[in-house]
Amino acid sequence: MTPEAAPDVVCPLCGVDADAESLRCPECAEDLAPLAHLAYAGRIHYNAALRHARNGDRAAARDAVAVALAYQPDLAPAVALHAALADTPGPP
Ligand SMILES: [Zn+2]
Repeated sequence: MTPEAAPDVVCPLCGVDADAESLRCPECAEDLAPLAHLAYAGRIHYNAALRHARNGDRAAARDAVAVALAYQPDLAPAVALHAALADTPGPP
């Protein structure tokens, strides 16, 4: 994971970026990992969709990619995977 690909996680109390290593606020030391997890939720579900697709579980892949797009509608690889899963005929 490259730093430029990481979504910004900002402390809601201090308004400063979380430390990239510890995911804590450098000002108040609040643990911002749950916010970071939310920021990455689209990618996490996209990766799950890819895993399901590789395992041949198209229904689970479609579900996971739909969740990914709900979190992050502009996630390009998820948009592409969603289209691919919708276009290709297969078991429901
Ligand atoms: Zn803070």
